[in-house]
Order: sequence, then C-alpha cells, then structure tokens
Amino acid sequence: MKGLKLASLNGSGRTRIKVGPVTVGEGFVIIAGPCSVESEQQILETARAVKAAGANMLRGGAFKPRSSPYSFQGLGLTGLKLLQKAREETGLPIVTEVLDPRDVLWICEYADILQIGTRNMQNFSLLKEVGKVDKPVMLKRGMYSTIEEWLNCAEYILNEGNPNVILCERGIRTHETYTRNTLDLSAVPAIRELSHLPIIVDPSHGTGRLSLIEPMSMASVVSGADGVILEVHIRPEESVSDKDQTLSTEQFAGIVKKLRALQSFVESGSGGR
Ligand code: PEP
Ligand code: MN
Repeated sequence: MKGLKLASLNGSGRTRIKVGPVTVGEGFVIIAGPCSVESEQQILETARAVKAAGANMLRGGAFKPRSSPYSFQGLGLTGLKLLQKAREETGLPIVTEVLDPRDVLWICEYADILQIGTRNMQNFSLLKEVGKVDKPVMLKRGMYSTIEEWLNCAEYILNEGNPNVILCERGIRTHETYTRNTLDLSAVPAIRELSHLPIIVDPSHGTGRLSLIEPMSMASVVSGADGVILEVHIRPEESVSDKDQTLSTEQFAGIVKKLRALQSFVESGSGGR
C-alpha cells in the first residue's frame, strides 16, 4: 500500500506492545468493561467480575462521544479516578477514550491505553497529539473508512514517534440495518498481510446485538485477531449507554471460557501464529 512508511510490514516481525502484565500481539487479549464509567460501585464490581472471569484489561469511557449533545457525556476526571481505583484493586490495565487533543497529556496519568474512537479516526490533530506521548494507542476504524485510510491514520501516530499502535475493527456502516454496524472480519487477515501492527476486534459495537457477540468473538480468534474488546456491565439493564449490546458478567464469563478453549485449539493446530 503506497504512502505507508511505518505502518506497513517491514520484515522485522510483528509489533508486540507491553501494557503492564499483558503483551498485546502475543496470544489473545480480552479487554472488558462497561461502555461508560457510571459510578464507583458499577466500575469496581464490574472490574472484579471481569477479572475473575479471565479478562486481561478493563475498558470504560470517562469521555463519551455521544451522537446527541443531550445524552450522558461521561464522568470526566471523576471517571478516570474511578478507573484508577479499579486498576489499583484488580491490577487490570485501563483502556479509555480521549476525545480532545487538549486532554491527551493529563489523561495519560490515568490511562494505560488511549482509545481513539471511530468518530475521531481522522481527527488529525488528535492523532498527532497521541503520537507524541508514551502510552499505547488503540485506534478504532472509522465507521466510513477504508483499510487504507485507517492505516494512514495509524501512520500519523507512528510518524510522531509513538510506535505502539493497536488497530481495532469495530464495524463499518453498510446498508444493513439488522446489525448496528457490519463487523468486517476480513479486515483482520487483510491488516495482517499489510501491517505489523496488532489488531483487535470489537464485536459489541460491531454488531450491536447481544446474541451475535459470542459467535463474532469466536470468529475473531479464527480470523487471526490479537484480541477482543467487549462491553460488560454488572447490571446490563441499567447501563446508561449501549445497553442493548452489553453483556452480563455471567454471559461474559461463558464467552471467555469458550474463547480460551478455541484459542488453545487454534494455537496447537498452527504451532502458534
Ligand atoms: C466505545 O468503545 O465506547 C465507543 C464509543 O466505540 P466506537 O468509537 O467504536 O463507537
Ligand atoms: Mn459503547
């Protein structure tokens, strides 16, 4: 793919990114947590439950990119402090979204991975800002973007000096309406043949339907993904955002068991990837 100097395969192997006790790009990483941080009890109880079920990292939005300005926008700094508390208690590294270039530096004090959401994939000033810090960045695919545009956005971050970019396929807009987005799992092997960067899959936003999350998580393993990110809530029916796609902690635990079994099967069959 022309124009990609840093994101394309370069013969020096696949990028592995160490995040606390976890290495993204080795094995299959499971990131779980609520769409939004809502309260101390909600995030701590969810963190404990996903940790017990076998998650490797905790997700949770403190700054939410909502389609309507009247919807819950996140708890901001309070939310970040609660995530920090959850990390202290569980040891799970934190993945949280940054919306504004002016917030990047101080959010780094709380986040282990900075998430760039689909709506900001081509926010070039934000990409340049996260390219200057020493935290890994999870770059979600723009819902209207091609793989080439997505990789060029990764290139913006890499070009500023930050080598630690994780791509996240979260579904794209098509004419389909049964699902919230069309999860493009073909992007996973496509990225693996174009780039050395790790890629994870978000079946929660990618389908928007509870019943489809487990099968698409399983398919993510087989597609060659480096992990999944899933929305989980201690009481899904009370989620203030993305209720319809949020797993209960019991449902999540069931999915983790199946994912780990499938991962062992795939790894034993291929002698590791
Ligand atoms: C999220 O992960 O909470 C989120 C808002 O995702 P996306 O940017 O993929 O819609
Ligand atoms: Mn969400």
